[in-house]
Amino acid sequence: MGIDVGGTKVLGVVAHHDGTVVASLRTTVVHDEGSRPGEALVAHVVEMASALSAEVGIPATSLPLGVGMPGMVSHDGRMLYAPNFQSASDAPIAEMLRATQRVDLRYLGNDADCAAVCEHRVGAGRGVHDLVMVTLGTGIGGGIILDDRLVRGAHGAAGEFGHMVVDIDGPDCPCGARGCWERFASGRAIERMANEAQAQGHLLDFPLREGASELSGEDVTMAARAGSKEARAILDEVAWWLARGIANLVGILDPALVVLGGGLSDVAASMLDTLRAELPGLLEGGTLHPNVALEVAHHGEAAGALGAALLAGGCA
Ligand SMILES: [Zn+2]
Repeated sequence: MGIDVGGTKVLGVVAHHDGTVVASLRTTVVHDEGSRPGEALVAHVVEMASALSAEVGIPATSLPLGVGMPGMVSHDGRMLYAPNFQSASDAPIAEMLRATQRVDLRYLGNDADCAAVCEHRVGAGRGVHDLVMVTLGTGIGGGIILDDRLVRGAHGAAGEFGHMVVDIDGPDCPCGARGCWERFASGRAIERMANEAQAQGHLLDFPLREGASELSGEDVTMAARAGSKEARAILDEVAWWLARGIANLVGILDPALVVLGGGLSDVAASMLDTLRAELPGLLEGGTLHPNVALEVAHHGEAAGALGAALLAGGCA
C-alpha cells in the first residue's frame, strides 16, 4: 500500500509488485494547524489506509505501507520541514504512525522521491540509469536517481528543487526565501500570474468558478486548451521558467532523462513542446551539450503513491 500526502491532495493505492494498481483513493488534505504537529497528517494516513484495506479485503496491518510526504523527511521518518505543509513540520511522523498500531509502516520519505522510484521502475524511466524527477503540484518536488539508486542525501533531504532560488528579487516564498523556482513554475505560480494579469486588466473574459474569488491553475489550462492566447502566454512563461530550472539541474546532475509528473502532469504535457524547444538553448554549451530527454510521467499524479507502495514492498 502506498499513500502520497501532497500539499492539497492525498492519494492512496494498493498495488502488486509489478506496479499494477488494484485499488486507489483520493481525498483532500485537511491542514489542522490547531493540533499537535503532524497529528492531522497521521490521522489522514491512518484513515486512508483503513479505507483502502476495506476495499481490497486485507487488514491494514497486513499490508506493507509506504508513505510519501511533501517536504524534507529525515532517514528516521521525521518531517524536518514542509513549506507547503507547515502543520506537520518537525513531527516524528514514522514514530507517530507506528504508535497507532493500525498500519504496517515500511517506508516513509519524500513524495517526489517516491514518484522518481515509480517512474524509474515501472514508468517513463524504465531502463534509464540516471534520471531526475520533477513533480509539479502546489509547489515543485524533486527526486534524483543516479546509477539506478535513489539519492536521499546525508539527512534524507536531497532533491528539494522547488526552493532553488532562480531570482533573488523574486516573489516571497512560504519557505522564507525569495524567488524560489516553485514561485515561477507550479500550480501556485500559474495562479499568481493569472491573477496578476487580471489585476492589470488582462484575462478579463475568464469566468471565475462559482464560489471562487481567484482564478485557479486549472482555469488557466482549460482556457489555454480552449484557445485563449493570454492563457497560453502564461503557460509559455511558466514553461520557460520550468526549462530554466531544469537546465540548472542538468548542469548539476547530468541525467539522461528528466521526468515531469505530479498533480499537474497534464499541464506539463501541454508544455512539453515549448520545454523541448527552450531547454537546449539554456544548457551549458548549448547545442554542444549532450541531449537530455524530457518525458511526462507515465503514472501521472499516482506516481508518488505507487512508488511508496513499491518501496514498502521491497520492490525498489
Ligand atoms: Zn522557497
